[in-house]
Amino acid sequence: MPQLEVYCTVCNCHYWAEGEHCTAEKILITTDRIGQLYPESLDAADTATVARQHGASEADACMETCCKTFRVRTNRRPAGTPQKMEGKARELAARH
Ligand code: SF4
Repeated sequence: MPQLEVYCTVCNCHYWAEGEHCTAEKILITTDRIGQLYPESLDAADTATVARQHGASEADACMETCCKTFRVRTNRRPAGTPQKMEGKARELAARH
C-alpha cells in the first residue's frame, strides 16, 4: 500500500494538525449519497461492509464526496488556529 500524505483544512477535526495535516492512520472518503445514509456512524473500519451493501459509488464532482472519518475536536484548538485558517480561506477565495 503506498504511503499517502493527506492535507486537510478542517481545523476542528480531532485528526487535524498544524500544517493542515490529517493524522488519522486511515480515513474513509465516500460519496455524499452514501455518507448521508450513515450520518455519524461510518468510518474506515466499515468500508468493506458498506461496499458489500452498496457496491462502489460514483461522484460527478469533488463537491459530491465527503470524509467520514471527521470527528469534532473536543479539546481546545491550538492557539492562533482560527486566524490562520481565516487568512488561508481568504487567500483561497481570492484565487477563484
Ligand atoms: S479525518 Fe478527514 S476531516 Fe479529519 S483531518 Fe483527516 S481528512 Fe480532515
